[in-house]
Parts: sequence; structure tokens; C-alpha cells
Amino acid sequence: MNTNKKSTQKYNAIIIGAGIAGLICANYLAKKGSKILLIEKTQKAGGCCTSFKREDFIFDSCVHSIGSCRKRGIITNILKELGIKQDKIFVKCNPSDLMIIGNDEYFFYKNVNKTLSALQTRFPREKYALKAFFSIITETRHISLCLSLRNYISYKQLLDDFFKDYRLKGIFKFFLGNIGLPSYKVSPLTAMTLLREHVFDGGYYPKGGMRGFSELLLKNFIKNKGHVLFDTKAEKIIVKNKQVRGVLTNRISLTSKYIISACDMNQTLYELIGKENINTKMLKRFSTMKPSVSGFIMYIGLNSHVDKYFRGTKANIWYCKNYNIDNEYENVINIDFYKQGTSIFCSSPSLKDNSLAPKNKASLELMILAPYISKKYWIENIEKIKLAVLKRALNVMPELGEKIEIIDFATPITLEKYTANYHGALYGWASIPSQTGINRLPIEKLDIKNIFFTGHWVGLPVGYGGIVNVAYSAKNTAGQIIKTG
Ligand SMILES: Cc1cc2nc3c(=O)[nH]c(=O)nc-3n(C[C@H](O)[C@H](O)[C@H](O)COP(=O)(O)OP(=O)(O)OC[C@H]3O[C@@H](n4cnc5c(N)ncnc54)[C@H](O)[C@@H]3O)c2cc1C
Repeated sequence: MNTNKKSTQKYNAIIIGAGIAGLICANYLAKKGSKILLIEKTQKAGGCCTSFKREDFIFDSCVHSIGSCRKRGIITNILKELGIKQDKIFVKCNPSDLMIIGNDEYFFYKNVNKTLSALQTRFPREKYALKAFFSIITETRHISLCLSLRNYISYKQLLDDFFKDYRLKGIFKFFLGNIGLPSYKVSPLTAMTLLREHVFDGGYYPKGGMRGFSELLLKNFIKNKGHVLFDTKAEKIIVKNKQVRGVLTNRISLTSKYIISACDMNQTLYELIGKENINTKMLKRFSTMKPSVSGFIMYIGLNSHVDKYFRGTKANIWYCKNYNIDNEYENVINIDFYKQGTSIFCSSPSLKDNSLAPKNKASLELMILAPYISKKYWIENIEKIKLAVLKRALNVMPELGEKIEIIDFATPITLEKYTANYHGALYGWASIPSQTGINRLPIEKLDIKNIFFTGHWVGLPVGYGGIVNVAYSAKNTAGQIIKTG
């Protein structure tokens, strides 16, 4: 590494990583008028929240839907505070999700009462249990939510306590696909916060695809005189006398009062800050942390519409052959993960915004959870894995095979390469009780002055990432810096 690279500019704050966390943090700081630089190793903003073009189709690389865009929702409030007009940014998908389990279909509407009453009609014996369960899901005060859940060790225990019908338990376990864990491994707080996002206020889709959302944040940052460097990879955070001084990148050396890491935590601690600058207690704790699961995604361009598969809605589909959802999520860490399960997540960007595919054609994304295994494994098994995923999709879309025009795919290795997220993790750390709530990584005890962290690796109290949570984390981080002065 060349340590003699010239320092060209002095900044008040440098943010490493232009994912949603980095973009939102940068926006808050730039709005305060200080000299802010955002550096991003790739050529575009958004991190996991972006889109790409293959032939005439636009695909979303990772994120499929965004939550909390209701009136006074977290995203709504943030956009308002940043001076970004929210009207016309999002397509409101209602219903937001369609669960197909075996031959049964369940819709999740953007109206809690409608979803509740549809479930009560299907499960009349669980009518009161459902009402009580929904009142916890929709509890937006964090303390009240924690109090309601204090007697449960796991989400499974909570579901067993509320419901008798195995189908209902399966339905409420299915959304755990977002974090890829069986219900007995998930903290009830994490699961209920996750459910709230789907049941209460999920299913918003930015016009123009996910890149529409990140580009909007980028534009606003630049409008507020923020500086951006793309194709610029942070290689070292300069620490002297337990205080940060700047960042050494692949291109230049930069000086700054504050450094904010809005990227992968493994890289930040081991490579950017360096073990030599980290206290033993933190290193020991850090070595025990486990990342969330990764995924395998297929991006498919079709020479036909997909409306009928999605039952004439803009919902995302969750399919599984049976209600044994815990079994599905147990298997995702195994080497033959693609042979064992039947579950699949299906989404169509062009169904939400028809400008994302040519006329009379459609874009489709199929995703299954997958473990992080070597590149060699993926090269050797890729055709079998692609076939297995298509086979699962045929349960929902029987004539799919005849309509495929183009196919691309992303493995956990691809996700790691583009986002630098350790082991291609979908949501930062695994949402297990030993890593969430009061057990989250106490990164604030790093004992280095003027370094801050944001994004899905910070160890959010609710225990998982996702756009809403990283946006909230970014706002808080910016708030701490502004308070420091
Ligand atoms: C397949 C998949 C599907 C998902 N679906 C959803 C969904 O539907 N809804 C939802 O809410 N969430 C979803 N998530 C989770 C969500 O995408 C993430 O939690 C969130 O986007 C993380 O944002 P972030 O800003 O913390 O990090 P990231 O998006 O990972 O951004 C980090 C940025 O830092 C850059 N970077 C890394 N290292 C360096 C470096 N050394 N120098 C400079 N730049 C660097 C990266 O290139 C990247 O741009 C999904 C995630 C995946 C992977």
C-alpha cells in the first residue's frame, strides 16, 4: 500500500460507503453545512439498494421492498427532515405480500385490520389469539413492545403460546426468511419488529427501481454541497494517539475530523482500523460474532407478462410446499441447501413499475437463502442450483420455462464482491438473542476518538438490518456527530 498518497482536501467528516446508511448519514451532515465527503468503492450509490440493466430489463440487485413510508413512518420522517418531497417517489403495493403454502393462499394488505380480519375468517378458532398477537405487532413504542415480550425466550415460544393451529404458526414464521433463521433461534423482539414492517407498513417500491431511491438521496446530498468520490475504496483509517485523522484510499489520502464507517464491520475493524488499534476485549467479543445468512438470486427477463402468477397484484410471493417453515430455514446453512427445501421468494420489478421491462415483457427475480461456500463450489454446482431454483418457481409459475429470454444470477460470492458485506450477509449480524438487544456488539466501546459507525452491522437493538433500520441508524449516527460539534 502506498502511504505517500497526497492529501488533497480536508473534510469535516468522511463517510465510507454510499449504501442507504451512508447516504442518509451524509445527507443529515451536509444539511448542517459542514464539508462532507462520501466515498464509495463501486461506480454507483445504493450498496444493496440499487438496480442494474441487462439487455432491455432493469433488475433490483438485492432489495425488493421498503417499509415504513406511511404518514409519520420512519422513512417518511427522514425524507421530510432532509427536505426531500416524498409524493410520487413510491409505488404503494397493496397487498404487499402473498404467501402460498401448499394449496393455501394468504394476502397481506396495507391495512392491518383487513389482514387481521382475513386471517380471522380463515382461522375462526384463533380469532382472539390473532387479535392479541396483532396488537403486539402494531405496538410502535419500543418500551411497550419489550414489556409485552419479556416472558419469551424465543419467537417459537411466543407463537406456541399464542396459537394452536400449526398453519398459523407457519404463516408467521415465513417472514423470518428475511433473516434466514428458524423461529427457535430468533429473539421475539427481532421477529415482531420484522413482522410489523410487513404487516403494518411494508411493500413500498421506488419508481425507477431501487436505484430510484438511492439516486434521490445522492442528488439531495450533492444539492446540499456534499462531495462524492466513486471508484474510491477506503484502504486504511488513519488512527494516531487513539484518534482518527483521515482515510487512505486506493487513489488519495484524505484528512478529516470525523470518520464514519457505513460499510462492512469485519473489514472496518480488521482491515481499515487494524487489530493493532483495537482493545483486546473488543477483539475477543468481535471474534464470536456470526453474520446473517446469504442468498442466491436469479434475475430473469421474460417475453410475457407475469400478472396472473401474481394474482393481478403487485405483491411479492413467498412460496413453500408445506407449513414446516422452521425446517426450511434450518437447511439454508447446509452444503446441499438447494436440494432440501422448497421455499422461494418471487418478485417482479416491472410489475411495480412497467418502465423496467420492454412492452409485453416482464422482469422477475427469484431468491432462495444460501450459505457462504467457496467460489469453486458455486462454479461446480451452479447449473444444478439454477435448475433447482427454477423447479421451485414452477410450483407458482407453471409455464415459466417457455418464457425465459435472459437469465443472470448472484451468489453469496457475488454479493460479497459488490457490497463487501462479510460472507455476502443479507442483513448484517445474525439476529440471534446472543447478538441482539443488550447483547449487541458494543462498538461504542472501541476507545478511538471521532470514529462513528452506521448501517446494518452496527448491531441495531432490534437485531437486523433492512432499509428502515439502517436509515434509522444513520439518522442517529449523524445526530451524535452533530451533537459532538
Ligand atoms: C439479497 C438481499 C435482499 C434484501 N432485501 C431487502 C428488502 O427487500 N427490504 C429491506 O429493507 N432490506 C433488504 N435487504 C437488506 C438491506 O439491503 C440491507 O440491510 C441494507 O441495504 C444495508 O445498507 P447499508 O447502507 O448498511 O450497507 P450496504 O448496502 O451494504 O452498503 C455499503 C456500501 O459500502 C461500500 N463499501 C464497502 N467497503 C468499502 C470501502 N472499503 N470503501 C468504500 N466503499 C465501501 C459498498 O460498496 C456499499 O455500497 C436485502 C439484502 C440483500 C443482500
